[in-house]
Amino acid sequence: MLRYSLFLILLSYIGGAYNEDKLVNLTIESQYDALTYLNQYGYNPCADSTGVLCSVGFPSLLKDFQKRFQLNITGILDDGTRQLMNRPRCGNKDSPVSLSKKSVASLGQKWSRSMLTWSLRNYAPRIHPAESHRAMQQAFHLWSQYIPLKFTEVCPECSPNLVIDFGYAYHGDEFPFDGPGGRLAHAYYPEDGRIHFDMEEPWTIR
Ligand SMILES: [Zn+2]
Repeated sequence: MLRYSLFLILLSYIGGAYNEDKLVNLTIESQYDALTYLNQYGYNPCADSTGVLCSVGFPSLLKDFQKRFQLNITGILDDGTRQLMNRPRCGNKDSPVSLSKKSVASLGQKWSRSMLTWSLRNYAPRIHPAESHRAMQQAFHLWSQYIPLKFTEVCPECSPNLVIDFGYAYHGDEFPFDGPGGRLAHAYYPEDGRIHFDMEEPWTIR
């Protein structure tokens, strides 16, 4: 959950100026496309099971998605659902509403300390480095007002707890970015601390 909170706040300071036409390139049209999306973003508990017999019907998966985003719960790939699936989004998986609070909590790793350091290692092309640092500082400050953590910026070589990178396509992990639109960013649970933004998004400061 912490990763999502951080994203929400960071992304609230660094917003993408999207061209609506670009979103059409990512259109999910068929039920197959939608199933791929649901598998990718954590709605299918059977998608990651190996060597285990497991199956969940498409309508059931889609209802979880519709419930999460307060759409009409039809289990059908209607226009509203399709439209939402084609919007730019965080690259991390969602936590389907069908998971109980207890099971979600069991996923949660947390930091073993309350004072954390962070560093910004590179920048989005359109944003001046000083502006980038300022936006991140504001985001961390805002975040710390709502959670019991304090953040201090340190140099990239100072072994920061949180390392923020802008990268594109295959950038050193197993979650490649996909160019403008689609996946915007992702991060890792504590105490990993990696936070990655897609450099090819048209990031701007709001
Ligand atoms: Zn990454």
